[in-house]
Amino acid sequence: MIAPPADLPLDSILPNEPLLLMGAGPVPVSQKVAMANSVVINHLGDTMSQVIERVRLMSQYVFQTQSPHVIGVAGPGSAAMEMAITNLVWPGRKVLSINNGFFSARLAEMAERNGGEVTQYNLPVGQAADPLEVEKLFKKNDFDVVTIVQGETSCTVWNRELSKITKLARQYGVLSVVDAVCTLSTMPLEMDNWQVDVVITGGQKGLASIPGVSLVAFSEHVWPVITERTAPMPHWCLDVRLARQFWEEKGYHYTAPVSGILALHEALRQVCLETLEKRFQRHQVCSFALQQAVEGMGLSLFVEPHSRLNSVVGINLPKGVEAKQVLTSMSELYKVEISGSFGLPIVRIGQMGEQSRAHNLFRTLHGLGMSMKSAGAKIDLPAGMAALESGLDHDDNLTA
Ligand SMILES: *Cc1c(COP(=O)(O)O)cnc(C)c1O
Repeated sequence: MIAPPADLPLDSILPNEPLLLMGAGPVPVSQKVAMANSVVINHLGDTMSQVIERVRLMSQYVFQTQSPHVIGVAGPGSAAMEMAITNLVWPGRKVLSINNGFFSARLAEMAERNGGEVTQYNLPVGQAADPLEVEKLFKKNDFDVVTIVQGETSCTVWNRELSKITKLARQYGVLSVVDAVCTLSTMPLEMDNWQVDVVITGGQKGLASIPGVSLVAFSEHVWPVITERTAPMPHWCLDVRLARQFWEEKGYHYTAPVSGILALHEALRQVCLETLEKRFQRHQVCSFALQQAVEGMGLSLFVEPHSRLNSVVGINLPKGVEAKQVLTSMSELYKVEISGSFGLPIVRIGQMGEQSRAHNLFRTLHGLGMSMKSAGAKIDLPAGMAALESGLDHDDNLTA
């Protein structure tokens, strides 16, 4: 027999005081979400059916769609991306992949793995997609599917003209797949009005739930493509025709992640109670104040204002300053965690869900300024703090 290892208490590796999660996800969850996540119920039966019914109803509001086809998936945002792709892309399908960075490139890779013929519209780092260019590509080719991110978390770019692109897609007979993992419920996205066919989201970013349970909304328009498909479907778990047995028919597909779905229920409920209008406003005020404060203390932002994402803010590292040193100092001394990046000379601060609160911003900005200073940057911290204060001043919706 193999002997058991010595006792391994979690306390020995968790920080003494929980860190404030101000990076690019996961984000802090509310007490309601945390409590729901600690409950296990039967995955079938009346209670679960009612939970699913409400998750659909609240999701329809959050996605701004009347489509009943809101399908959950046990898995990260990437599993939701894979569900969207594998149900629409098979050998021979022509896919236009709008590529602003790491996550949009992941959609392209998934389309390729599913046998799609992928054309990439590659944008220079930090730049948003141009609908005129997209229309040229639609005119020249006969695409079946176009993939795009609303916010490219990796380099903090916002595809501001998303609605123009998705409407063009409908006009040219192309199915649109939108990754809204970091943006959903932090900024407008109107699935039906913008004629989007598939919207992907994860739990742990804009929605402020836990990681591991994700949602994909399919339009009425795209639904027949899925149900009438004749091409073989390589994935069993991700086959929407099977998943709908659980999400629409109260039946069994696989054992659903019940605790995570309960958590998602509470996260969606909080969005509904706050209302989308107020939530968008809160995120915008907080993100603008943060951006103004970062600049106010003498740092600069990675993306120019027109294409800058509000949900995740990218900050240039001053010459000679190492990201690692800044991040370590922030987490060890100030108990705040922010993100580095995938190869770019930036650090990133999230503005998703509870991250967009005045008290969390003050703590984060202070930690950032102090840590940048000790890493060698020239910082005017009082000026930054004052800029934050003036940016938040006029809004009393930011505490809660
Ligand atoms: C985080 C993120 C993903 C991937 O989500 P995971 O849960 O890490 O799989 C996909 N797209 C965007 C835009 C993201 O921000």
